[in-house]
Amino acid sequence: LSPVPSDIEISRAQSPKAVDVLAKEIGLLTDEIEIYGQTKAKVRLSLLERLKDQPDGKYVLVAGITPTPLGEGKSTVTIGLVQALTAHLSINSFACLRQPSQGPTFGVKGGAAGGGYAQVIPMEEFNLHLTGDIHAITAANNLLAAAIDARILHENTQSDKALYNRLVPAVNGVRGFSAIQLARLRRLGIYKTDPDTLTEEEVRKFARLDIDPSTITWQRVVDTNDRFLRKITVGQAQFDIAVASEIMAILALTTSLQDMKERLGKMVVANDKKGEPVTAEDLGVTGALAVLMKDAIKPTLMQTLEGTPVFVHAGPFANIAHGNSSVLADKIALKLVGEKGFVVTEAGFGADIGMEKFFNIKCRASGLVPSVVVLVATVRALKMHGGGPNVTAGAPLKKEYTEENLQLVAGGCCNLQKQIQIAQLFGVPVVVAVNIFKTDSAAEVDLVCKIAKQSGAFDAVPCNHWSAGGGGAVKLAQAVEEAARQKTSFKYLYSLELPIVEKIRIIAQKVYGAQDIELSPAAQSQVDRYTQQGFGNLPICMAKTHLSLSHQPERKGVPTGFILPISDVRASIGAGFIYPLVGTMSTMPGLPTRPCFYDIDLDPITEEVKGLF
Ligand code: ADP
Repeated sequence: LSPVPSDIEISRAQSPKAVDVLAKEIGLLTDEIEIYGQTKAKVRLSLLERLKDQPDGKYVLVAGITPTPLGEGKSTVTIGLVQALTAHLSINSFACLRQPSQGPTFGVKGGAAGGGYAQVIPMEEFNLHLTGDIHAITAANNLLAAAIDARILHENTQSDKALYNRLVPAVNGVRGFSAIQLARLRRLGIYKTDPDTLTEEEVRKFARLDIDPSTITWQRVVDTNDRFLRKITVGQAQFDIAVASEIMAILALTTSLQDMKERLGKMVVANDKKGEPVTAEDLGVTGALAVLMKDAIKPTLMQTLEGTPVFVHAGPFANIAHGNSSVLADKIALKLVGEKGFVVTEAGFGADIGMEKFFNIKCRASGLVPSVVVLVATVRALKMHGGGPNVTAGAPLKKEYTEENLQLVAGGCCNLQKQIQIAQLFGVPVVVAVNIFKTDSAAEVDLVCKIAKQSGAFDAVPCNHWSAGGGGAVKLAQAVEEAARQKTSFKYLYSLELPIVEKIRIIAQKVYGAQDIELSPAAQSQVDRYTQQGFGNLPICMAKTHLSLSHQPERKGVPTGFILPISDVRASIGAGFIYPLVGTMSTMPGLPTRPCFYDIDLDPITEEVKGLF
């Protein structure tokens, strides 16, 4: 329709097929799905075992140029592309998306189900609780937080012997260690299984974690943009939004239940008084965390407006974590589409961040090799990079953005060129998707496509999926299909064996274009500590603004000559990465004066949700 109706009107006007019908269509067996309502189902991981000999389909990553604060359409392109592949080219395909957090849904950004005629439906299900994965993460995260504080309290108030006796109580008159305690004894080098034979020294070693409270890094979480929680301190820790929890990053990177348990156990929450790491496993909580996460590990099946299958799974922060949807969803989808099919997954932020982390962190964890990168560009973002006025969320766009201006577009294509070159560092062909807005002129779009091809893109095509659905992304689908037939020579950007600082420098110089990096004394001492603790071989997850290739959001285009300041370095050992902070990062966003929730309402008669977008 023209004009294009609101996202929720479009979503409501289409009746999704029943999820069991969809599951059958894509080859799932009845006992491989767990249905939640009529339009969502969790998919069991047993499927990976059943299809283990089936070759994978082609793996496509959707990334973007450095965006405006409005977002340039990566989610809509992801959905438009699978709609085009499936409905218009008859190629099996699957989209894998992140689950949105309630923070942005009720705050500034709104939902993340795509938009226009390229959406996941029902979008209110997608944008709200879905199948409860984020709530499970919150529960697991906060159980661990409580475990840390309780342990410190009990160690502070009890003698070694009393503590030990409580930790190893007699059950039916017999004292024995639990499996998790036996594992701890093995780690401590105490090879005794009878609790009554430990020496006084061994009792002390076993019972006391001796957590140094000043080193606790584990925060409590809640899935609301609640800025007042920034001021609340519990012990040493504060509050983050739920999706900033390391457990979310683990959910996104894990490859099996066993692997998830191991990662949960390895999470470092503090140091002891000797400077050794204290883990969730030391606190005896690994099994309980795994129990809380046992359903969250299964990807949720939904569909696009045109009935294409979609997995929604995990949504880690894109700065302090890697910002990509789950490895498991991608793996299962790659089996389900078959050798000739396509799985399209999306990386958060611009390609300098989301795509770099997709390759260096997510592909390392999964072992999967991508076939094509789709780089989303918009005329408006390129105009901004070419010197156009600031673009602010909620404010009307200035005339530079609503009228033809070829000079600004040409000036800003340097950012597109740089992002193409970044993808090429990894040896993967790039197709540029120009996401068309109704104010773009044909000459502007042609210019972007021409410069993209001159800059080394395999192809560059205009996309009208937002206003026309899959039919508007057929050219993109054809270009992606052709690019996927190219031979790739995929490679990571750095070897894990390099020292932490060297890995940071490679990303800063080769990807961001920095002259060099500069570590604060605090950052350097953290690097030394992690290296000494044996964590030096992990990949790097840079926490940098997405609004510039540099660390300064106001510097658009392709900034040069800057020294990237690393203010601190932290680690998510269970997720498996070190994350340097480039400036300060807020892990508890706040609500604006007029948040999205002003427009969200429920009709008590029809139960219709209104105002989501
Ligand atoms: P990203 O994934 O890059 O953050 P989204 O795909 O979520 O971006 O799009 C951001 C917002 O812009 C969404 O509200 C979406 O509906 C809207 N949008 C995307 N493409 C278009 C378009 N071509 N015309 C109008 N609005 C669009």
